[in-house]
Amino acid sequence: VDRAVAEALDGADALASFRDRFPIPDGGPIYLDGNSLGRPSYAVQEALGAGLLDWERHLVGGWRRWIDLPVQVGDRLGGLIGAATGQVLVCDSTTVNLYKLADAALAHQADRTVIVGDANDFPTDRYVLAGLAQARGRHLRLLPSHPVTGLDLDDLAAAVDRHTALVCLSHVNYRSAARLDLAAVTDLAHDCGALVLWDLSHSAGAVPVELDAVGADLAVGCTYKYLNAGPGAPGYLYVRRGLAGELHQPIQGWFGQQDQFAMGPGYQPAAGVARFLTGTPPILGLLAVQAAVELLGEAGVDRLWAKSQGLTRLLVELVRQRLEPVGATLASPADPDSRGGHVSIAHPRAWPWCAALIERGLVVADFRTPDVMRLGPAPVYTRFVDVYDAVERIAEVVAADRDGSLPKPDRSRVT
Ligand SMILES: *Cc1c(COP(=O)(O)O)cnc(C)c1O
Repeated sequence: VDRAVAEALDGADALASFRDRFPIPDGGPIYLDGNSLGRPSYAVQEALGAGLLDWERHLVGGWRRWIDLPVQVGDRLGGLIGAATGQVLVCDSTTVNLYKLADAALAHQADRTVIVGDANDFPTDRYVLAGLAQARGRHLRLLPSHPVTGLDLDDLAAAVDRHTALVCLSHVNYRSAARLDLAAVTDLAHDCGALVLWDLSHSAGAVPVELDAVGADLAVGCTYKYLNAGPGAPGYLYVRRGLAGELHQPIQGWFGQQDQFAMGPGYQPAAGVARFLTGTPPILGLLAVQAAVELLGEAGVDRLWAKSQGLTRLLVELVRQRLEPVGATLASPADPDSRGGHVSIAHPRAWPWCAALIERGLVVADFRTPDVMRLGPAPVYTRFVDVYDAVERIAEVVAADRDGSLPKPDRSRVT
């Protein structure tokens, strides 16, 4: 594979023009961390500016237009995850939403004792489930999974039974990008009467998700990765229509109350998914999510997925060609049908490489302990030549480190 291949792919790219919707300076580092924090679009920047002006002009009167944003933006975001309206809210953080939905699921499944998860899942998911298991006197069963290919469906099938209250899993693994079969796992859990809670943080915006079609019960996710809504933008949650009314939301806040401004003496939950609201919504964050989701809606889930697969396919070929010969290994599934939107490589020197690439302004990728470098080409603004050039730059840094001379800086809290 040479650069002309990447150039040809860019020439045929249906989403090529979307790159112009983002301020991207020429000559800067190649940004392959869109799976951690996406780039701002002009649309998001304008929405934030307009929000500040609205606040200045309307002050408290602004609430008339703001108060329903969690529901309205949720309906829009639902279009990216296969959810019909009235089932998605944009609110709180992914962690808090996971807590609310998992707790509600456990309360609903009062006679079942076990929560099933993945021992290699994202930390916040494991920690929240561990805390809930303790608080509610349930047993958390975290299944061992393969660090590259992920959770084996037969192992999962063997672990789920009539004692299982909840199966809670990431659709795409944050480290390896191993992707689970949404429909197969949902069916497997439902066959045993368990509820399923999906974390879509590494899916939405790159990988298609069909929540309604597979009959998923519950889902959460964040908006600052492939959705590009900005650092700390609010997360989202999905509750299947028909299930919401049966669930009790553990945080009995006034925004989830049936007639909020009656300010009545007792808590009476709102009818549908709205009962999962808590307190005053973060309006600026919501305006950013709204603009971000509209832009991705224009790009279209199918085109985003086709481009994402093209980018990761090229990336895997280039890893084989340029990085495996110098000792790095592919740490993502080789099979595109089992992979999400990023590609990871593993090597004991991954951290010094990653640090040098950032330090020298070449490539922004990220590192996950102990030895994994993640390369996340967001489909809406990454070109095929970016992927090609990034691997060339990585190969150069790896060559410069042949004698192990690159410094190994202290790890900071984030890469
Ligand atoms: C990024 C991510 C989160 C983030 O949770 P926050 O509450 O936004 O910090 C949660 N789960 C997964 C799987 C993630 O990848």
